[in-house]
Amino acid sequence: MEAVPQHMTGDERHPDISTVYEEGSRASDPIVELLRQYVPGNTSVFTIAVCTTILHQLLTLVPPYLLGVTLNAFFTGQRTALSVAFVPQPWIPSSIRGQFGFIAGLFVATALATALTQAVQLVTFRWFQQSVLHDLRTDAYDATKRLDMAFFETEATGNVMSVLNNDVNQLRDFLLGGLRQFIESATLLVGLLVFMIGLHWQLTLFSMSFLPVMFGLVYVYQQAIEPRYEDRRSAVGELNAHVQNAIEGIETIKTFSTEQRESAQHRMHSRAFWHADWRAAKLSGLFYSTRRLLTEVMSLAIVVVGGWWALFGPPFVFSASLSTGLFVTFLFYGRRLVQESSQIGDLVDTYTDARASAKRVFGLFQYPTGRLESANAEPLGSVDGHVEYRDVSFTYPGADSSTLEDVSFETKPGEFVGLVGPTGAGKSTILKLLLRLYETDEGTITIDGIDVSTTTLESLREAIGYVSQDPFLFGGTVRENIAYSDPNADERRIVEAAKRANAHEFIRDLPDGYHTAVGERGVKLSGGQRQRITIARAILKDPPILILDEATSHVDNQTELLIQESLHDLIATRTTFVIAHQLSTIREADRLLVLRDGRIVESGDHEELIERDGLYASLWKIHTGETTKLPEQLRSHG
Ligand code: ADP
Repeated sequence: MEAVPQHMTGDERHPDISTVYEEGSRASDPIVELLRQYVPGNTSVFTIAVCTTILHQLLTLVPPYLLGVTLNAFFTGQRTALSVAFVPQPWIPSSIRGQFGFIAGLFVATALATALTQAVQLVTFRWFQQSVLHDLRTDAYDATKRLDMAFFETEATGNVMSVLNNDVNQLRDFLLGGLRQFIESATLLVGLLVFMIGLHWQLTLFSMSFLPVMFGLVYVYQQAIEPRYEDRRSAVGELNAHVQNAIEGIETIKTFSTEQRESAQHRMHSRAFWHADWRAAKLSGLFYSTRRLLTEVMSLAIVVVGGWWALFGPPFVFSASLSTGLFVTFLFYGRRLVQESSQIGDLVDTYTDARASAKRVFGLFQYPTGRLESANAEPLGSVDGHVEYRDVSFTYPGADSSTLEDVSFETKPGEFVGLVGPTGAGKSTILKLLLRLYETDEGTITIDGIDVSTTTLESLREAIGYVSQDPFLFGGTVRENIAYSDPNADERRIVEAAKRANAHEFIRDLPDGYHTAVGERGVKLSGGQRQRITIARAILKDPPILILDEATSHVDNQTELLIQESLHDLIATRTTFVIAHQLSTIREADRLLVLRDGRIVESGDHEELIERDGLYASLWKIHTGETTKLPEQLRSHG
């Protein structure tokens, strides 16, 4: 997989998930690719499944043959001597009774073998399919987590969910039905042709004369249906995306009472899906009925021509005669040949559908990520906390103007750095670059002199504790949420972390204490409570570098002060970056970086910056209430 060129920005860097596979100019068909990647892990079971499927299908061809032989030997005027293909003549009894019993025995043996092979085939195929699906499902899920943040901003969550659910399920249908049916049909077609040619090549030639028409029909259909299936799939994606958005934003919808507008939009997406489905359904309806007609005409032609042949001798240019028994065998075989060749249509249908899904699943796998780990990425090792930004510039994908420009600064290990500036100045973005949630466009960021883009992401993030301004809790208990950073932590450490985050008291008062379920995304807790749990999570992690991004914005001043106090030791012993609107919170910082429009405009400690009487001094005056007048330099930004 190729890394995305650094100069690419905006949407160029984020292609549509459905087109990634094709744009990667991968030569092979996505279904072939699917089998190539997933069969090797299940080779033995796949081999048994395929062999028994072939055997089973071939066995189903035996009874019509035996029937023809029986008719010719016992029931027609011709009364030819009994001979069965692949059975040595000495094995066949000489008396009529003996021969009849022998044939009956062959029928029974065939029936038993057919049942047995079918049982083995079904069980082994099922195992193979589920095993492949398991691998595919887990790979798709892992692939989603490998993607960078920018992906989730350009692709709607519903679209990603649709790949993980609908497309993987579509492939399940293909693996459960389509693939087996393909092997069955291919075996039958080849087997039938070999049997039929062996028995009577001239009648076979006639029976096959319709096949080009059938294949032509199937081909035209496949060309026409594929784009319609793709349209249908993207319509489902959009519908899901809307539903997901509406459920996530249910509170906003209710408070703004926009239910009707949302319903109208949902109706629009649902109707778009309906139309897309209808366009596909119309075409497949037409195809199936035409195919059925063709099947019936072909079968009838074999009955009429074969019957004539047996009664009055070879028609048209043919010369070989046809016995009654063989005619009966051919009635079965001919119909089967026609049916199987028409099955190709179903197969093409399932295959086309599965191909569109496989393309999207592989698109997800191969989605270019900005933050690919280079093959020789090294773990970061133990960290002192010396962080340096050198001429760092960055623009969010799709943004018009640059978000950060030429940001340079350096921190000593253990330093407490406060980031100050108006909303939107780029404070959070600076710290997200340190975590490599996004890649810098220019410049380098180093930790202890090591360029973070050369380290493994795991070791980098291991070294950094990050508390964001949007505290996210997973559905589960309070305890599980705190221990998320260290699932093996014992009770004592969890409680201690909670105490330092000033969370212990309220947790104890919850109905089940640390074992209280927090609800999906933590909805059962207040914003401030969620925030304190995420702080406890970071404390438990005990990282050498700590980032608190408005970590206390949802708590009242008094609680904020308490948290500050308890964090004091933590901050003193590691490099800490703090973004806070309450300037008093970061007043004690060893160094303050003041940002405006993506640039560092001032830097120094509180006293130095007050003395300088610049942007920070103005902000401080507003904070302390010394002035209520917005300084000129903030008028266009705040
Ligand atoms: P701050 O933390 O100083 O309030 P941010 O770093 O969050 O500012 O944002 C800096 C700028 O980048 C803002 O103009 C914001 O609109 C923009 N921005 C932030 N996040 C994204 C994003 N995910 N995609 C595009 N633009 C973003």
